[in-house]
Amino acid sequence: MHIQPKTRAETLHILFGSVPVWRLTQVEQALFSPFIRTFSDITTLPALWREPLHRAQVFISYRTTQVFWSQKKDTFKALLKLADGKQIETVLMKNARGAYTVCVSTQVGCAMACTFCATGKMGFSRNLSEDEIVDQVRHWIYFLADHPEIAARVSNVVYMGMGEPLANYDAVKQSLRTILKYTDIGPTHMTVSTVGLVPMLNRILDDSEWPAVRLAVSLHSADPQTRKEIMPTSYDNFPDTLAEWADRYFEKFDSKRRHLTFEYIMLSGVNDSEKHAEALIKFTRRIGKVRVNLIPYNYTGDVFHKSTQTDIDIFQQRLEYAGVDVTRRRTMGEDIAAACGQLAVQEEKTAIA
Ligand code: SF4
Repeated sequence: MHIQPKTRAETLHILFGSVPVWRLTQVEQALFSPFIRTFSDITTLPALWREPLHRAQVFISYRTTQVFWSQKKDTFKALLKLADGKQIETVLMKNARGAYTVCVSTQVGCAMACTFCATGKMGFSRNLSEDEIVDQVRHWIYFLADHPEIAARVSNVVYMGMGEPLANYDAVKQSLRTILKYTDIGPTHMTVSTVGLVPMLNRILDDSEWPAVRLAVSLHSADPQTRKEIMPTSYDNFPDTLAEWADRYFEKFDSKRRHLTFEYIMLSGVNDSEKHAEALIKFTRRIGKVRVNLIPYNYTGDVFHKSTQTDIDIFQQRLEYAGVDVTRRRTMGEDIAAACGQLAVQEEKTAIA
């Protein structure tokens, strides 16, 4: 029975035996070049290696791709079909610096079942491998190289696509390390977003190999009951547990480098009242140095409605008045279902290859 090698590194070892580290580095470096699109293009590799590698089909993890352009041409969503036929989505968004942020997926579907999220409605299918995560960034590096009219580079990577990153801890960690090693993207330009899997958050504290990237916790309510209603897999007393974890996090790491953000999706009549703002203010005071990022809800079904602009303004002002560091996320790519919470591998007819 033929067993499909899982990673490029495994493939190299299977094909060529023990491969020196410098050779693996040479291959990985070439994979991030926008001008190298097949193993045959890596002219520094021995000719005898290129053909078997080409046949092994591990140059890139996906087999087909469809790209959707937002009307404003500032957001792009790619639907990628993987070697086993599973599909994932990844997004490229223009950021405030005029460069681009890649949003990667880490799982096919998601087991966390957050009620406001389209991916949560899909259920969980499988974890992505390190290569499958890294190759989403490579996909967009190629895309930008093929569209010189966009004339920009990838400056940031956020792990906020399909799936819960910390539920796929090892592959996510390796992918972070690979991107940091082979691109010019620094750790403060990479963010891992999590619902707050406590055992994995604790693991980060003791893991010397976990890179100093930014962490964003999807809080969405500082009231445990409200949080549990909208995020059914939430721990019963999550805010207390998170506060204890944050104490240890800031004790262990320099808070300037290890930035912490709470994501807060604004749901009308659910978590946007004065009572919820007060709970959030109390909670952030307990944590200390943390930023709150307010996210306007993007349509994923009829259960929830977005908070009105006025309600978001008032909520934000309450936080600011109380001295909370608060930002508001711009909604991008809603017309191609690429906005936060909308990723769910639906094939549309407007794709541009
Ligand atoms: S919000 Fe994130 S963790 Fe929750 S269901 Fe969606 S993808 Fe999963």
